[in-house]
Amino acid sequence: MEIIISCMDRRLHGKLDAFNDGETFFLRNAGANVFGLKETLRQLVNSNNISAIKVMPHTDCGAMKLVSSVIKDGAKVDAEIDKMLVEQFKHMKFSSRDELERANLEIQLKHLKDMFPGINVAGDLIDIKDIEDKAKGHSHVLYIAKPSTKPYSEIIEENPFNTYVVQALSREELYPDIKIAVMLGQEKVFMPVLSREEERMVKMDFSVLGMRPDILPEELRESIEIIKRYSLPTKIK
Ligand SMILES: [Zn+2]
Repeated sequence: MEIIISCMDRRLHGKLDAFNDGETFFLRNAGANVFGLKETLRQLVNSNNISAIKVMPHTDCGAMKLVSSVIKDGAKVDAEIDKMLVEQFKHMKFSSRDELERANLEIQLKHLKDMFPGINVAGDLIDIKDIEDKAKGHSHVLYIAKPSTKPYSEIIEENPFNTYVVQALSREELYPDIKIAVMLGQEKVFMPVLSREEERMVKMDFSVLGMRPDILPEELRESIEIIKRYSLPTKIK
């Protein structure tokens, strides 16, 4: 079996489905950030016969805009996001977002090579210009799921171009990406698209997310409220 790691960006599902052979696990987070998926990767590699791992970030990436705004413009970012995403770029010099996006591919490839010396590792930067954006309106959705071998055309039932996808196994790895999704989309509405298979996972994570609302940034609290509202069992079908 193989693993493909890509960004949660809503425009990538079709491109990724072209690599779906039914034998490949897909993992997604902000920026195709291998560093932020180490635990999930270890678990998958330990319990499956993984022969190859490919990392596929993309151009015009919101996560890289975020990294750039922190490093170049001194924007403030949540400590967890800093640790899981931004930190790994701090030693770097880059003069443009293009350069940063190319460097991201190299950095994530290096993480993979260091972690899994016995596994075939490859990477590719997806050019977003090749993908036509067919989003309907501005209302965007966040879909939280386990790593899966299923095509997105099956997982996402409506408006795929409005749907961001995060796929990881641990709360620690999902949490910063949910925060990033909230930060990147001020005009977006976030709610899970729930399929029966994912129901248990989503419920578990949201109960954890709801544990200490007092420590959450306000925009995240608000988003979780929206998520919870749409997670009502009556919505699951
Ligand atoms: Zn992206």
